[in-house]
Amino acid sequence: MSDPNKKNKGAVEATARKIETGKQLGIGGGVHSRLTLDYPSVRRGVTPLGRGARVAARVTSPMRKGKAAVEMPVRKAQVGKHIGTGGVVHSRTTMDYSPVQRAVQPLGGGAGGAGAAAKFHDNGGPVLPNARVQLVFWGRSWGNTPAPTPSATQVGTALINMINSPYLSALSQYRSNIGQASLRGTTLFTNSNPPNSFTDQNVINMLIGLLNNGSLPNPLFETVLYMVIMPQGVASSNASFVGEHTFFSYNAQLPGLGIRIPVPVHFAWVTNNGTLDSVTTIASHELVESITDPEGSAILGNAGVCSQGGWCEIGDVCYTTGRLNGVAVQSYWSDIDGACIVPDGMVAGPVMGNPAMVQSRFGRKGNFELVVPLPANGLAHYWRNNDDPFLAWHGPYAFGARSGQYSAVTMIESNYGSPGNLEVVAIQGSNLIFFWRDSGPAFNWNGPFRIGSGVAGVPALIQSRFGHQGNFELAMPDSRAGIKFYWRNNDLASKPWSAPIMFGKSLGRVDAVSMIQSNYGNPGNLELMALASGNLYFFWRDSGPAFHWQGPFHIASGVSGDVALIQSRFGHKGNFEMVAPLANGLAHYWRNNDNPSMPWSPPIPFATGVGHVDSLTMIQSNFGSPGNLEVEARIGSRLALFWRDSGPALHWNGPIWTTR
Ligand SMILES: [Zn+2]
Repeated sequence: MSDPNKKNKGAVEATARKIETGKQLGIGGGVHSRLTLDYPSVRRGVTPLGRGARVAARVTSPMRKGKAAVEMPVRKAQVGKHIGTGGVVHSRTTMDYSPVQRAVQPLGGGAGGAGAAAKFHDNGGPVLPNARVQLVFWGRSWGNTPAPTPSATQVGTALINMINSPYLSALSQYRSNIGQASLRGTTLFTNSNPPNSFTDQNVINMLIGLLNNGSLPNPLFETVLYMVIMPQGVASSNASFVGEHTFFSYNAQLPGLGIRIPVPVHFAWVTNNGTLDSVTTIASHELVESITDPEGSAILGNAGVCSQGGWCEIGDVCYTTGRLNGVAVQSYWSDIDGACIVPDGMVAGPVMGNPAMVQSRFGRKGNFELVVPLPANGLAHYWRNNDDPFLAWHGPYAFGARSGQYSAVTMIESNYGSPGNLEVVAIQGSNLIFFWRDSGPAFNWNGPFRIGSGVAGVPALIQSRFGHQGNFELAMPDSRAGIKFYWRNNDLASKPWSAPIMFGKSLGRVDAVSMIQSNYGNPGNLELMALASGNLYFFWRDSGPAFHWQGPFHIASGVSGDVALIQSRFGHKGNFEMVAPLANGLAHYWRNNDNPSMPWSPPIPFATGVGHVDSLTMIQSNFGSPGNLEVEARIGSRLALFWRDSGPALHWNGPIWTTR
């Protein structure tokens, strides 16, 4: 499945969390002269925002420069009973299923690389922005007992899985309003058999009969793609075609008025050689072409691009196939890739270390931003476009490569810049290195800036409500024992980092920490979970004036990787939610903050099928209400997303692989 979050876009429930005015100054003082500071002399775009304010950025996302805005076409009225010349699939004798790849070179050469001249252009005719597919199984054998192979159910299920995959996700390059499709319904028409060989007119007559008697949705009220699946062994009158899509004008009845109004009916037919793979491969070809060119007047090849007759469409220059969600599909031409592609929704890896993810204020919905170390050198930034119906990931965008290899990373979106800069602290050897990325339009990563040393393991950075601007608070394992804590005074022009404050030395060597500012205390206590020797220990620091770290308090055992702690919008107070790897898969723990004793739950295992998880990051997103939990986990050299719905099921979903 593609990320099922998209089914779950509830409005964000306003959090009950009280708004902190945060006028207090940060802890301590006068300690900032002890570190060597290495800052850019001028910090760009310093525009403080209201604390906790969500900026509705008009900049959708930084990386969409390649996608031209295309205006909605004016839908042309169809006049007369015209039969399109049709887009066809030529029959082939062999089906080779290549591994799923983002970019598959077309057979027969002639493929340019990315940036090659476009092969297709937009003629401005209608497209199907959100195709609603009505399957029509024609032939008596579809009603047989036992069912034929493939059965109507198998074909229908496979098409749902295809539609729910990232397969259609590259079509919006041709018309920006093209989004997700859906399966409208299924009709079994077993009263007759298609003639062998059948013509387009046979198919049209059958559809008109079903439209007239109300067996199919009225095209006057909804735009539907009628996809006719033939029984095995029935061929087209043109034996070189195994599938086709086209349209005809139908005089649709306006109920109650006796008036008939001509509307275009878009349809396709798909022949059946008795294998599910063949049916879905042909169906996929007709689907992408029906979406991008239902009437032969929209996305069409430039002169000379196609060698066959009929409409020259994006499926007609591609013969490779792939498999998505277990379903065989055909590749289609992507001008932006300069290749035939089967979009699989994944981006390139490999990665190492731990991922760090935030939901940023970039985009309308708020994109996911993820930073993770690369195995060779430097760090990679990935982002997920949450305004894209396919929630596509982009990247990797490497930075910091010249400064060597990094083992761990932490990230926030701060209130510097608008809608907010990304701020990263990463561990290189035993050094603490700082990077930041401006809010655009340049989106440059700045750094590396060394801010400390003598550390190892996974750090945690937050922007707190201490100070006027909101200080940075940073915790990480010391390279020998315990936890090192720094804070950056963001109310001073020089933005000095404090000297380190040590605590938790009794734990010995600590592997990882995760830290939040909660809504306990005023402006909010710091709460920290530390992983040491497979055990999780909790610490917290009051909001002042003592600023004393309390702990360790033992919380859990048998943990085998980095931990992530957040305060969620579940519960009245806001529960603590924690995820950590066990020997196999992951475990969710939560602390009931509405119970005065604040009990931690036992571990709730999930993702046990993925084996050992190395590290992870967690957020509560604004998908669902009050917000789904989203975990990006590194499993070996790959990243995968897990997410938990907001209830009532509270079910963990995934893995949805993010990187290949
Ligand atoms: Zn075609």
